[in-house]
Amino acid sequence: MRAVVVENPFEMHIADVNLSDVKDDEVLIKVITGGICGSDIGIYNGTNSLATYPRLIGHEFGGKIVKKGKDVATIKLNDVVSVDPVRSCGHCYACRIGRHNVCANLEVMGVHRDGGFAEYVATPAKFVYPLDIAKIDSRFACLVEPYSIGVQVNHRGNVSKGDKMLVMGSGPIGICIMQVAKSRGASVMITDIFDERLARAEDMGADFTVNVKKVKLLDSVMDWTNKEGAMVIADTVCSPESFTETLLLACPAGRIVTLGLIDKPSKIAQVIITKKELDIRGSRLSNYRFPEVIEGFESGELTPQKLCSHVIPFTDVEKAFKLIKEHPEQVCKIVMEF
Ligand code: MN
Ligand code: ZN
Repeated sequence: MRAVVVENPFEMHIADVNLSDVKDDEVLIKVITGGICGSDIGIYNGTNSLATYPRLIGHEFGGKIVKKGKDVATIKLNDVVSVDPVRSCGHCYACRIGRHNVCANLEVMGVHRDGGFAEYVATPAKFVYPLDIAKIDSRFACLVEPYSIGVQVNHRGNVSKGDKMLVMGSGPIGICIMQVAKSRGASVMITDIFDERLARAEDMGADFTVNVKKVKLLDSVMDWTNKEGAMVIADTVCSPESFTETLLLACPAGRIVTLGLIDKPSKIAQVIITKKELDIRGSRLSNYRFPEVIEGFESGELTPQKLCSHVIPFTDVEKAFKLIKEHPEQVCKIVMEF
């Protein structure tokens, strides 16, 4: 079968890969689509410190069940499923307290082990989630994963009805966070540096958009909140400066959720955290949030069809990476067909 393999940084090709046999607890998935994520590009660029090479990439993917092991009872042949790529050890502290997404021995498909940008993938049935294809286009099964990040951020930020939430950045993850927050009854202001991306965010439900190249964000947030500050902030810009800024933008007793993986320190004074008694919380991957996302897809509150800006054949993967690099304003989520 064919698969997208990053041999070394900047060396990606469609490889011929052997398909392993299905174990008793596994299903074989004929992949329908895969979503391209910033972290895939990080593996390609050699900037993802967690990845090892060569790597069959892809952690956002879905497909149809074509074979199953003899112990698999819950999943049926021909089910269309999305696959949770998080693999944990089950016995470390995080796993023991029910937070396996930050397992001390964490492995993610497509990063630490082979992933889903392939014509077929075998994986244990307990990580696959069927979708109702009467309600959801099967090509968007791959987008459950990015939305699960949005759900996780909303849990970490304790987002609830009536909250005024600031989402920094209108990339796919920023938009997923925003849509989940809207479905929980929050009011959301979202930022970006491209009007095209803000227009998409607005179309998908954002209450207020701010182009931070044109307007001072602190003024916009303070006007919107009667000078209180945002109750919840999710920072998907993830620069040292954006994190510093969140402390000023948050209201007393506010929650700040970080998603960045960079190791450059930010300049922050502890007095702001103490005085406002801020909760600063990390959010990583997702902690079994697929069912919540699928519910949102099926009810129509979450709209993966609008997140998707391009559908292309997987053999054009290099073209897609180039498009994301050269025209970020034109791209939201690129979905590749296998
Ligand atoms: Mn992703
Ligand atoms: Zn663990």
